[in-house]
Amino acid sequence: MRQYLALKAENPDALLFFRMGDFYELFYDDAKRVSELLGIALTTRGQSAGEAIPMAGVPIRSAESYLARLVRAGVTVAIAEQMSDPGLTKGPVERSITRVLTPGTLIDSSLLEPEQESLLAALHAGSNGAWGLALLSVTSGELRVQDFADLPSLADRLRQLQPAEILVPAAVEAAALPFRERWRVLEGTTSSAATTRILQRYFGNRLESFGVEGHPLSLHAAAAVLNYAESRLKVSLAQVQRILPERPLDALGIDANALRSLEILRGRDNDGPSLWHLLQHCQTPMGARLLRRWLLRPLRQGEALFARQRRVAVLVEGARYRALQSTLQGLADVERVLTRVALQSASPRDLAHLRHFLQRLPEICKTIDLVESLLPEHEAPRRADFTSLRSLLERALVEEPPLNQRDGGYLQDDFDAELAALRHAEQHVGAELAALEEQERERSGIPQLRVQFNRIHGYFIEIPASYDGPIPADYQRRQSTKTASRFSNLALKEIEDRVLSAESRALAREKTLFRELLQETATQVEALQGVLAEISEWDLLANFAERAHSLRWTAPEFVRDSCLEIRAGRHPLVEAELGSAFVPNDLELHADRRMLLITGPNMGGKSTFMRQVALIVFLAHVGSWVPAQLARLGPVDQIFTRIGAADDLAGGRSTFMVEMQETAQILHLATAQSLVILDEIGRGTATYDGLAIAWASAEELLRLQSFTLFATHYFELTEMQHPQLANVHLDAIAQAEQVTFLHQLEEGPATQSFGLAVARLAGLPETVLRNARERLTILEGMAPAQTTRPMAASQQLSLFAEPPHPALRALAEIDPDECTPRAALDALYRLRQLLDDPS
Ligand code: ATP
Repeated sequence: MRQYLALKAENPDALLFFRMGDFYELFYDDAKRVSELLGIALTTRGQSAGEAIPMAGVPIRSAESYLARLVRAGVTVAIAEQMSDPGLTKGPVERSITRVLTPGTLIDSSLLEPEQESLLAALHAGSNGAWGLALLSVTSGELRVQDFADLPSLADRLRQLQPAEILVPAAVEAAALPFRERWRVLEGTTSSAATTRILQRYFGNRLESFGVEGHPLSLHAAAAVLNYAESRLKVSLAQVQRILPERPLDALGIDANALRSLEILRGRDNDGPSLWHLLQHCQTPMGARLLRRWLLRPLRQGEALFARQRRVAVLVEGARYRALQSTLQGLADVERVLTRVALQSASPRDLAHLRHFLQRLPEICKTIDLVESLLPEHEAPRRADFTSLRSLLERALVEEPPLNQRDGGYLQDDFDAELAALRHAEQHVGAELAALEEQERERSGIPQLRVQFNRIHGYFIEIPASYDGPIPADYQRRQSTKTASRFSNLALKEIEDRVLSAESRALAREKTLFRELLQETATQVEALQGVLAEISEWDLLANFAERAHSLRWTAPEFVRDSCLEIRAGRHPLVEAELGSAFVPNDLELHADRRMLLITGPNMGGKSTFMRQVALIVFLAHVGSWVPAQLARLGPVDQIFTRIGAADDLAGGRSTFMVEMQETAQILHLATAQSLVILDEIGRGTATYDGLAIAWASAEELLRLQSFTLFATHYFELTEMQHPQLANVHLDAIAQAEQVTFLHQLEEGPATQSFGLAVARLAGLPETVLRNARERLTILEGMAPAQTTRPMAASQQLSLFAEPPHPALRALAEIDPDECTPRAALDALYRLRQLLDDPS
C-alpha cells in the first residue's frame, strides 16, 4: 500500500493501474471510479485505519480493451508494472510507472483506430496577444508549428484540427479556446533555457535548417509538447525528427465553420456521409491518415499543388493507379510500427510486419519509379538501402511471432548460438524425462506411473488413485486429486531445476537479443520514415486517381486571372445519394461578375448549388479532381461559409448571435481572392433588421470584391444594383399549388415565391393553408399603399409589414413643444388606452 500510495502521488490525476501478478488492481477512489466507468465489480482488500480498502481490477490479458474505453472517455491512466521477478524478489516486488496513457499520446494500435490520428497540441502565449501552437502526432512523429496573431484565429485552427489533448499554460487568458474538456493546464511556464535545452537535445544544429527561427512562441510550444509527451511515454521521442513550420501563405484558408458546414470530415450529425468517406479508398492506413491531413490543409495555387495534380493525371491515364493500388494493398500500418520501434516498445509481431514491408518494398518502389519516370520533373529517386535490415529481420524472426515477448518463441533457433544451445538443453530434457519415467516405472513396479508437467505445479510423477500398492519411500507427495496423486523426488527435481534454468536463461537471452534487434532497427527509423512518407503520398494520389476515374471527375484547370468557372458541376455527396437524378449546374464568376444573388423556392437547391461550388474549389486545392465537366479556377486564398443556423447554447450564444459572429468574421477577413458562401443571413431577427443586415453585408462584400454566392429569401435584395452583381435563381414550376423543382440554375431573379406550395408539400394541415392563403391576399393587397420609402425594393418590403398601430399614429401627431404638462399627461393616458384597445 505504501508503494501504491507513493506511485499514486506521482500521478494524482491519473487512474493508477497497479500490476499485481495477472491483474491490474485499482484502490480507493480509483477503484470506485473505474468500477463505475467500466461496470466492473468493486471489492475490498485489507484494511486501512480500520476500514476496508475498496479495490477493483482487470485481468492483464484483457486489459487493452478496458484501457481503450477509458482513454476514449478522455481519462488519463498510469500503468505501474512489476520491475523485478516476483519469484526472485524478497519482500514487495519493485514497481514503477512505465506509461501514462492520455488521449493525445497513444501509440498502441489496440487503442487507436487505424484511420484516426490523435494530435497533441501545446499553446504558448506571447505578450502582445499573439500565440504559438505546436502540434504533435506521436504516432507519426510529425511536429508542426504555427504562429497566430490573435486568440480567435488560434481557436479556429484548433476547431479544425480537433486535437485530442491541448496543453494550455496556466495563468493565461484562454477562456475563448474550444474543447475545454481536453485541456491539460500546465503549471508554471517553460523557461527559455529549458526550451533551448529540449530543442537542442532533439534537433541539435539541424534546428536552423527547418526555417523556424522566426517563431519563438511556437518553438516554446514545441518544447512543451515534447516535454509532456516524454513525461507520459517515459522515453525520448526518437520518431520526431524535425519541425515543420506551417506557412499560412501556402495554405488555402478554410475555417472550422466551412469544414463543418461543407461536411468535409464529418457528415451531418457526425455520422452522415462526409466528403472524407466518399474520398477514402486508400490502400493503407497511412494514406488514409494523410488524406485527413491534406483535407485539413488545402493548398493555394503553386508548385506543390501543381505537382500533386500532375501525379494524379499520370495515374488516371490508362488507369495506372490500379497497379500501384494492388502493390500497396493490405500493407500493415508500418508508420505506427516505426514509432514503437523508435520508442523501443515494438513487439515481435511489429517487427514481423516491418520485415513483410521490407520484403515488399522493392516491388512497391519499382511501381512508383515507373509512374515517376513519366513525370516531367522526374529525377532518379534516392532512397536508403534496407537490404541488410531486411535480411537481419529475416534471419532473426520466426515466421509468425507471437504478439508479445512474455513467453518467448519469436526468434529463430539458429539466429544465435547461445540461444540455440539453451533451447537444445531445454528440448533435450524431454528425452531425459522419458527415460526417468521408464526407470521409475520399473523401480516402483507401477505400470501406470507417468511423469507429467503443468504450468502451475511444474514437473511431477503421477500415480492414478486406483493404485493402492506401496509408493517408493523417496517420493514426496505434492498434491492429490480425485483421480491421481502427484509426487516428486530428487531425480525429477534435479531435471526440473535444469529445465527451468535453461528455460529462463533462454528467455532472458531471447529478450536481450530482441532488445539489440530493436536498437539496430531504430537506427533506420528516419530513413524508413522517408520512404514511408513517399509511399503514403503515392497511396493517396492513386486514391485520388481512382476516385476521379470511378466518379467521372475532371482535372481542374488553374489560371492566373480572376475567375471561377464551372461547367456542369455536381455536389459529390448529393449526387452519391441521387445518382443520375442529380441536375448539374454551371457557375460563372469573373472580374466583372463577382456576386451571384441566388433566389428560388425552398427546396429548390440553393444550398446544394452553393456547397457544390465550395466543394469543387476545395477539392481542386487539395489536389483532387472535381465533380464537373470543366473547372477553371483563378487564385483563391480562402473559402468562407455561413450556412445554416446552429445554436451554440453550451457556449452561451443564440442562433442569431452565432450567425452574426460568423458573418462578422467573414467581413473582417475576406479579400478579393476569397470565395464567400452566404446562405440566408439575417433571418433570425425582425424582417427589417434582417433585410438591412443582409443588404449591407452584400454591399460590403461587393466593396471587398470577394467572389460571393449569396442565397436569400428577401426578394427585396434582387433590386440591388451593382455592375458586378448578377441575379440568378433556381427554377421550379408551380401549378395549382403543386410545385415541381427543376434544380436548374437560371439567370435573373426568381419571379414567384413558392412558400405555400412547399408548405403543402410538407403536409401543413389544409385549414392552416387556407388561412395562410387568405392572409397572403390581404398582405399583398396592402402592399402598394404602404410604400413610403425611397428604395424601390420597399414595395416588396411592405409585403412583410403590418399596418402601423393606431397608438403610433397618435404618437406621430403629438408635437411635444406645443404640449402643456397637462396635455402631455392626457396624451400619455390616451396612448396607453390605445395600446389596450386599438379600435
Ligand atoms: P431552403 O431554401 O429550404 O434551404 P434550398 O433551396 O437551399 O432550400 P437545398 O437544400 O439545396 O434547397 O435542396 C433541397 C433538396 O433538393 C436536396 O436535399 C436535394 O435532394 C435536392 N436537390 C438540390 N439540388 C439538386 C440538384 N441539382 N439535382 C437534384 N436534386 C437536387
